[in-house]
Amino acid sequence: MVFDDRRNMVDVAHNAMAFFAEESCGKCFPCRIGTHRLTERLNGTAGPATEAEWHSEVDDIGDTMMATSACGLGMAAPNITRSLQKYFPDQVSAHLQSVSQ
Ligand code: SF4
Repeated sequence: MVFDDRRNMVDVAHNAMAFFAEESCGKCFPCRIGTHRLTERLNGTAGPATEAEWHSEVDDIGDTMMATSACGLGMAAPNITRSLQKYFPDQVSAHLQSVSQ
């Protein structure tokens, strides 16, 4: 997928994570629950109040999914949040500020 610089990458990540949550077969809980928890954190409907806590929690969920999911879907889904945090930190900050108001 190719996007220009007008695209909100948090929205892109949210849509991708929601797709993974929909496609999760539900066999193992790290993927079944983790994809939904990450989707919530990307749309602002749940998650900690501070930015540092948000990153820490998203990292913890992703680490657990990568280490314990039974197949590649659950192992790969956290790459969405990893890439978002690494390459678009300013958009993450703006998103967290907008949902906290
Ligand atoms: S990691 Fe694979 S087996 Fe586990 S719930 Fe997700 S899709 Fe199913």
